[in-house]
Amino acid sequence: MANRYRTHNCSEAGRHIGRGISVAGWVNRRRDHGGLIFIDLRDRSGLLQVVFNPQVTAEAHRIATEMRPEYVVRITGDVARRPAGTENPGIPTGEVELIAREAEILNASRPMPFPMSDESGIDESVRLKYRYLDLRRPQMQQNMMLRHRVIKFIRDFLDARGFIEIETPILLKSTPEGARDYLVPSRLYPGKFYALPQSPQQLKQLLMVSGFEKYYQIARCFRDEDQRADRQPEFTQLDLEMSFVDEENVLDLMEELFTSLMAELKPEIRIVKPFPRLSYHEVIERFGTDKPDLRFGLELADISDIVADSEFGVFRTAIAGGGIVKGFAAPGCADYSRKQQAELVEFARARGGKGLVSMAIEGSLDDLTLDKVHSPVTRFFTIDQVREMVKRLHAGPGDLLLFAADKAEVVNTVLSQLRLEMANRLGLTDPNLMVFAFIQDHPLMEWNQEGNRWDSMHHPFTAPYDEDIPLLDTDPGRVRARHYDFVCNGYELSSGSIRIHDSRIQEKIFSLLGYSDEEIRERFGHLLEALEFGAPPHGGIAPGIDRLVMLLAGEDNIREVIAFPKTKSATDLMTNAPDAVSEDQLRELHLRLRAH
Ligand code: ASP
Repeated sequence: MANRYRTHNCSEAGRHIGRGISVAGWVNRRRDHGGLIFIDLRDRSGLLQVVFNPQVTAEAHRIATEMRPEYVVRITGDVARRPAGTENPGIPTGEVELIAREAEILNASRPMPFPMSDESGIDESVRLKYRYLDLRRPQMQQNMMLRHRVIKFIRDFLDARGFIEIETPILLKSTPEGARDYLVPSRLYPGKFYALPQSPQQLKQLLMVSGFEKYYQIARCFRDEDQRADRQPEFTQLDLEMSFVDEENVLDLMEELFTSLMAELKPEIRIVKPFPRLSYHEVIERFGTDKPDLRFGLELADISDIVADSEFGVFRTAIAGGGIVKGFAAPGCADYSRKQQAELVEFARARGGKGLVSMAIEGSLDDLTLDKVHSPVTRFFTIDQVREMVKRLHAGPGDLLLFAADKAEVVNTVLSQLRLEMANRLGLTDPNLMVFAFIQDHPLMEWNQEGNRWDSMHHPFTAPYDEDIPLLDTDPGRVRARHYDFVCNGYELSSGSIRIHDSRIQEKIFSLLGYSDEEIRERFGHLLEALEFGAPPHGGIAPGIDRLVMLLAGEDNIREVIAFPKTKSATDLMTNAPDAVSEDQLRELHLRLRAH
């Protein structure tokens, strides 16, 4: 049936020169030139210039005088080539304009709380309060369309490879992923609660027991954590699980998916093939973090052995106390002023470090003498020690060496962030390069000093290496996990693992994690039982969609790619959630609020 509002979208006008069309959309801009009125009409497809000439139709021109920004209008007219010299190469329909014959205002609009065209400088809280208007802005429309295309690509890709999408419930029992649960009180069962899934982890494993073999879901996950720029209380992941697979099968699938997705949606962005696969220990050693940005070098090196016996007390004491000294070379930064170096020290302190030692290197390794090493601490080292440091850091003339000395954790935290800071300052974070990589061989568990128990590094369903299983009894901290992280440009895109499919091992892990037999039965009884009914070997992964789209859109904040996000403090400024509820609702849920 013909559409009574429009025959074409704005962006199609160029293909219909000389013909009559109807378009509908929003008034982006209106210019009244006394005689002629110009409207830039905007619909989802783009902009089209409309001309109202009182000579052509007095009535349409009169209606146009009433139009204001963001009014919703319908216009019928004839597409014409713009007069020579008035073309606008800035928009796709810049060669043509619509000469209006008929116009109708479909709805008026109050003045906007912020301009639709202005890309920057709008306060985010105003944008979030009026998110439906913010989403009307072309940039946000593009982000949402990109998100749609990413998800559609993933669905088609997995469908073609025999995966089936299965929905799992939102009202569930607690599913530990290491975060706090969002709880939903039950009306029918006083004092009982559902938990919103932190991920569909256990359900996808149960679907493997059911024999589906290849499952995926664009799944919403809920975690009540302290918020950060790239976190949201609810987020979306591509949740995926496969039966009869080893690590390589899952990683190969991911590599193929992400390679083809990039080729299809972002061909202008370079990627590195094959995706590097690095061990956890190696990345901590070389980059100080398990989510390294691999677009650039600036690799860290441990120099503890070189300086352990030096005259420099700060280094010696740190090492003697069980700590380490690590550093890296910032190329071309030897001329950093005292003030710039002090800034870096501040940067390190703000991230938990005690300070930072810097050395500016003037000469090359062959002709290096101590008077070519500029640092307040040069005198504490022999030339041989300095040479060894320069060699270890692969430094050259003009480099600034930056060192931190402390407990390994502190050193790695400080230097991994300083490495990023220097890369940014040096322009090494190429926006047109995405380096995807897999990080493997994490420890299965970490000792939790406060809780006096082991904690899973990933989640408790991750399988240990078969050959490490005996260590569960003797030295659990040395057990390696069949876990993999998928990282890109300094972000963790996802984690995954081969899972435990033997109920005895699963039970053993639960008890190492400090669960009592009763808790195990109560919380995980269903899973343990399922593993006893012919559970196949299986594994999976769950890349975060929000972060992925954020990276592809070139944004640095996931709120830019989520239609209705929460603020950093987990509130919704548009609907004002979370909000109080009535006494009646509380009573129905058998709840009474506790006075603080
Ligand atoms: N459920 C895990 C997570 O949400 C991912 C996985 O192991 O597949 O991080």
